[in-house]
Amino acid sequence: MAGATCFLCGRPTYDPDKRERPWARAVAGGAVALVCPRCRRDRPEWPALVDHCPACDSTRLSVTLGESVCRECGAVAGLEAPREGL
Ligand SMILES: [Zn+2]
Ligand SMILES: [Zn+2]
Repeated sequence: MAGATCFLCGRPTYDPDKRERPWARAVAGGAVALVCPRCRRDRPEWPALVDHCPACDSTRLSVTLGESVCRECGAVAGLEAPREGL
């Protein structure tokens, strides 16, 4: 993940202190989105900004060849899965 930055604040990735939470890996708009420990703490709304699994609503998605794969339940979602406003 060379050159990766926080999806929210743009902070370059770093190894978090043991007392901090690890970086969150998510997917936003079909691309990998990393969230730094500080944004996880200070911006609790961040899960609303990233893609969710259509099956289990998890944000623990990864992207492989343009497809989002849920790391919780294994569901695969195509790129640009429309998110209807609720
Ligand atoms: Zn951040
Ligand atoms: Zn899922």
